[in-house]
Amino acid sequence: MKYQKNITFESLKKKISSYITDEKELNLISKAYNFASEKHFGQKRLTGDDYIIHPLNVAYILTSIKADADTLSAALIHDVMEMCGVKESEIERKFGKNIASLVKGVTTINKLNFSGDSEAVINNQRKILVGLSEDVRVIIIKLADRLNNLQTMYVLSPEKQKETAKETLDILVPIASRLGINSIKQDLEEFCLRYLKPDEYYDIVEKLNATKAERDEAVRRMIDAVDEILNKYGIKHETKGRSKSIYSIYKKLDKGKRFSDIYDLLALRIYVDTEQECYQALGIIHSKFKPKPKRFKDYIAMPKTNMYQSLHTTVFGIDGQLYEIQIRTYDMDKVAEYGIASHWSYKEKGSNVKAAMQNDMEKQLQFFRTIMDLKNTEEDPEEFVKTVKEEVFQNTIYVFTPMGDVIELPKGATPVDFAYKVHSNVGDRTSGAIVNSNMVPLDYELHNEDIVKIITNNKGPSREWLKFVKTTQAKNKIKAYFNRVNKEENLKKGEEALVRELKKRKIPSAEFFDEDNSKKILSELKFNSFEELYIALGSGKILPETVVTANKKEPSREERVLEKIGGHESKKISNGLVSVPGIDEIKVNLAMCCCPIPGDKIIGYITKGYGITIHRIECPNVASLDERLIKAEWNQTNEKVPTNILIKSNLESNVIIDVVSRANNNEVTVNSFSNHKMRDSNTLEMTVLVKDREQLNKFITSLEMVNNIISVEREIK
Ligand code: MN
Repeated sequence: MKYQKNITFESLKKKISSYITDEKELNLISKAYNFASEKHFGQKRLTGDDYIIHPLNVAYILTSIKADADTLSAALIHDVMEMCGVKESEIERKFGKNIASLVKGVTTINKLNFSGDSEAVINNQRKILVGLSEDVRVIIIKLADRLNNLQTMYVLSPEKQKETAKETLDILVPIASRLGINSIKQDLEEFCLRYLKPDEYYDIVEKLNATKAERDEAVRRMIDAVDEILNKYGIKHETKGRSKSIYSIYKKLDKGKRFSDIYDLLALRIYVDTEQECYQALGIIHSKFKPKPKRFKDYIAMPKTNMYQSLHTTVFGIDGQLYEIQIRTYDMDKVAEYGIASHWSYKEKGSNVKAAMQNDMEKQLQFFRTIMDLKNTEEDPEEFVKTVKEEVFQNTIYVFTPMGDVIELPKGATPVDFAYKVHSNVGDRTSGAIVNSNMVPLDYELHNEDIVKIITNNKGPSREWLKFVKTTQAKNKIKAYFNRVNKEENLKKGEEALVRELKKRKIPSAEFFDEDNSKKILSELKFNSFEELYIALGSGKILPETVVTANKKEPSREERVLEKIGGHESKKISNGLVSVPGIDEIKVNLAMCCCPIPGDKIIGYITKGYGITIHRIECPNVASLDERLIKAEWNQTNEKVPTNILIKSNLESNVIIDVVSRANNNEVTVNSFSNHKMRDSNTLEMTVLVKDREQLNKFITSLEMVNNIISVEREIK
């Protein structure tokens, strides 16, 4: 598509009238043009042209994919909000909600400059990706807008040209390709190559020009031969020569091929009416011209993931040269050229084009589903954009299900990634994989065109998979599975812990779960339901003791201590683990008596000559002290801190193995322990290293479930 410096609305309208005949729609488009030309009056492009030339060109590009009246109108006024300060409400009044929201969409995407700081670029790219879910026509206008900007970018500096070209190849070309909008995609690629690698680009152009006459002649003779034989068998068809895109030639040269070795430079395409005729034509051609082995592709039975359908073959032609032949129906051709936009050319009266397009995206386009999935799970915009680029847009491989469906995956993906892509149910139940009839390990790296069969059982996923899966989707789904399972486990554990605590304190459960009391407890602890409370108990976020005493009104000792020290704040000093307000350099120690750990409520006690000692607020050793107390807070660290616990167990039992294995499971480090035999029980005094209170509580809760263990508590000496 060429940039038209002298485009007029008349020439655009002529093009539009070739496929839009509805008088009302044509009037709407004229009205949009008049509005735009009035608003942009006097404005100039950097090229020196009147500004209106730009929206006219954008609309003209969109006629090449037979865009509908709403989209064309929106294209004509796409810059009036940003450039002329027109309000959305005004557009809505004049052109209706649909067009207003298209213009708003394009404006939102364009507002942030592509250049500039990386955060703006990321946000912009995220908007483009998310915009797909709202109305894909916004992105299609954006593609045309970008194409026209590339066409006129010769006025800008080479740096700016390269920047925009890179950005285009990064996001917009992959989107155009996956939406199947081939015609615009190819033009975008070509401009990008011209700006990014001008030497290579012009070298290819020159070589193509030098061999053009010769190639045209060869293709013309081959077309005659093909026509002759298809006519002989009565296949109604058309045959056309086809030129290879410069960008695809560049890609092949870049992979190390020599120009003279690119044999699909001689290419033709056959159009027929029905799918059956495609296969008939193929058979006839193969009977006359020998096919080159392994060059045959049936994209009709197995469409590409962007809905593309055709038969591809490469044959030895009349002159012994290789010719690439594509065979497709006219309908397939529309999808091949326009992709998602082909809905426009099928437009039936009264049908909702936007809904039909969005529906197709959801049902047919895997990349779209992946992006929407990631959008829902990834909140960080930078991560989201990075993941889409790396896992959806770059280096994709295509593998098959045993039924011949194509699944799109990033390079390096494993059978587990495949399984989760097919369905999370399949992923969760994966137990083995067969690739091309061979059993493979689950971390096997899949390759293009592998046929993958997943063997399932009901055991559920393994955490080990997280170490080798390639896609963020699979990772998220495995984690979600374990979160679900943990929740159920914690719920059960929490309920048991509370029942145990009630028994220990001899509180009848009827009394405790009495309606009034239940309400009080939940509101005091700020939970919406007992289910939530059990989950918190089971995961160690709160202790059973806290739950049963939650309805006691009198202030705890902790609260009394906190009252004493008041709220004076000043400059904070810290020793890494703990911050206290106050005096410059001072030594901060954790008290040996109560061994506080992160998450404990703590308080500092100023010791003459020894700096500040940090105690747990419930430590009886501080309760008696007054003036020298000072406020203290934990810092965020990952350091493990020692603390002591006492495990009371039945006399004749040996619980050490259980204790150590549970410590292991909870990532608690056992530092030392000693056993004290009493008259009727055993007490194990143990020093452990833990990250925080939550981890310790979890560990304690898990110990309490061991049969011979009577009680577990934290030690205060
Ligand atoms: Mn624009």
